[in-house]
Formats: sequence, structure tokens, C-alpha cells
Amino acid sequence: MALYTTDLLILGSGPAGYTAAIYAVRAGVDVTIVSGNQEGGQLTMTSTIENFPGFEEISGFELMEKMKQQAIKLGAKFINDHIVEVDFAHRPFICSSENGHSYKAKAVIVATGSSAKWLNLPSEKKYLGYGVSACATCDGFFYRNRTVVVVGGGNSAVAEALYLATLAEKVILVHRRHKLRADKILQDRVFENRKITVEWDSVVEEILGAEEPKKVTGIRIRNVETDAVREISADGVFVAVGHQPNTDIFRGNLVLDSKGYIVTHENSSATDVEGVFAAGDVKDPKYKQAVISAGSGAIAAMDAINYLDTVA
Ligand SMILES: Cc1cc2nc3c(=O)[nH]c(=O)nc-3n(C[C@H](O)[C@H](O)[C@H](O)COP(=O)(O)OP(=O)(O)OC[C@H]3O[C@@H](n4cnc5c(N)ncnc54)[C@H](O)[C@@H]3O)c2cc1C
Repeated sequence: MALYTTDLLILGSGPAGYTAAIYAVRAGVDVTIVSGNQEGGQLTMTSTIENFPGFEEISGFELMEKMKQQAIKLGAKFINDHIVEVDFAHRPFICSSENGHSYKAKAVIVATGSSAKWLNLPSEKKYLGYGVSACATCDGFFYRNRTVVVVGGGNSAVAEALYLATLAEKVILVHRRHKLRADKILQDRVFENRKITVEWDSVVEEILGAEEPKKVTGIRIRNVETDAVREISADGVFVAVGHQPNTDIFRGNLVLDSKGYIVTHENSSATDVEGVFAAGDVKDPKYKQAVISAGSGAIAAMDAINYLDTVA
């Protein structure tokens, strides 16, 4: 059990956390990053990234490793640990970890991201990054003129289906109920789009694929009304059953919105607790992109630097 003391503690090692660290450490701030259980964040779950400026094509793991090395080289301390409890009511702030360590800090940037919800099928894990995705904006480009499946029936699923229909030849929306939960206007657009068909009352039982090259070849669905099982050919499967911000430990410590995202002041990363800032997907229910999280991390670092100047 160790006690670490730092000026700025950054929770999370995704694009937001690393960018915040790079900015703060370059301003002369003493920075400690606590990685969390998913070092490198969500991008490490995807094979190829083509929309992070400066890299025509790079694997998620490599991009995040580069960010980590940049932050460390500039002087940020990096600790592989996961925070399980925070005390933002007293100063300095104290965060306690699952390894029994305590982190004392004058300021904290929360960059704990969000987690896509999955169907929890073994085949989904197997083909993640090889045809299975949770982000149409990120991976839709790889399915131009191909057939893709979108799983879900809410606003995000419908928005993903509409977006994919601008690229793919055919989009099959699989929904377990007999009507969509999405806004009426979005539903109308789906029904008017000749590229989109809906498989009603259906659940995906398995994602089908091939080895060498590893790729998705289709899905097996079951109709929950009739129990009929059917296989459908497809090149990609987009799971759009929602996201969960990683904010359980902040409940009661920070103001969260109805979906659990951290609420920050307008045009700022400041939370309702002075000295605690939020960056990236953990405060962003809408855009959820690496470059936006990185930008958000830079904003949080600049806000934290200003704050630390006032309490130094
Ligand atoms: C499959 C997939 C593919 C994607 N592809 C792209 C793409 O091609 N282009 C793109 O721009 N975006 C893509 N995205 C979205 C992108 O990954 C996210 O928008 C981005 O990673 C968010 O960055 P972040 O730093 O806010 O959070 P995250 O990347 O979610 O990182 C959160 C970090 O917080 C840590 N953490 C969580 N809880 C704790 C805790 N209690 N204590 C300490 N640390 C904690 C985690 O370990 C993790 O390191 C993709 C997402 C997915 C799921």
C-alpha cells in the first residue's frame, strides 16, 4: 500500500487522459496518470484507425502507445492501477485504488471514458475489430458498397443505420421488439430508405465468420415470437445497444446527468467540485470520437493549469 502525492491526478489512459497529461506536464505541472483497467482506453479494441489526423492508418494499440510514450517522455508519471473510491469533499482530493494505494492531489481530471454495451456473445468478442464494431462513424468507411447489420432499436442504432446507408449497399437493422424506440422522425427516415430493411422481433444468436483472413461473414438470428432461426450474410456487424459512462465511483461526488455522464459547466471542463475537471467520453454522450476526446483533454488540462495557479 503506497501513498502517492501529485499536483494533478489524471484518471484514465485514453486519448483524453494522455492529451491532458501532455498539456499539463508541458506547463510545468506535476502530473500522475492512473491508467485504469483498460490501459489505452477504447481505441485498443479496434484494429485500424484512419480518422486520427496525422496517421493515415494506425492500429488503436499503436496510437495509444505513442500517446503514452509522449506523455511519459515529457515527464508525466504513469501508474497501472484502477480507482475504486474518491473523496472530493476534502482537500487535497483522495482517490483510492483496487491495489490499496491512495492518490492525493490538488486537482483531478476525470477521463474515465465510457464503455460500449455489447451483446455478450463469444463470437462478438472473437470478431471485434474484424467486422464487429460499436462505432459506425469510426468503421463505416470500411464497408462501402457492402452489407452490414446494425443491432438495436433506439436513437443511436437508427442513426448508425442511416449513416451506414450512405456508405453501404445494404443495411439490415435487427431489433428484438416489433417497433423501434427511436424518435419518430428518425424512424420515418429508416422506413423511407430503400437500402435499410428491418428484422423485427429478432435477436442475434451468433456472429458468423471465417479465419484467414479473419472476418465476419454473417449472423444467425432467432425470431423471439416464432423461435425460427435464420442465417443472414453480412460483411460487418455494428452493435448499437448503448454506451455506459464509467462514472459509478463518482455517484454522490459529482453531478451526473440522467444517463450517468458527468455534467460540466458550459464551455468548460469544470465540474460542480472546484478543482475537479472532466474530459472525453465520460462527459460526452454525443460525439464519442478519439480526436474530440483528445481536444477535450487539452481543454481540461488548460482549465486545471489555471486552477492550480490560483491555489499554488
Ligand atoms: C470498437 C471501437 C472502435 C472505435 N474506433 C474509433 C475510431 O476509429 N476513431 C475514433 O475517433 N474513435 C473511435 N472510437 C471511439 C473512441 O475510442 C473514443 O471516443 C475514445 O477512446 C474516448 O476517449 P476517452 O479518453 O474519453 O476514453 P476511453 O478511451 O474510454 O478511456 C477511458 C480510460 O479510463 C480508464 N478508466 C476507467 N475507469 C477508471 C477508473 N475507475 N480509474 C482509473 N481509470 C479508469 C480506462 O482504463 C481507460 O484507460 C471507437 C470506439 C470503439 C468502442
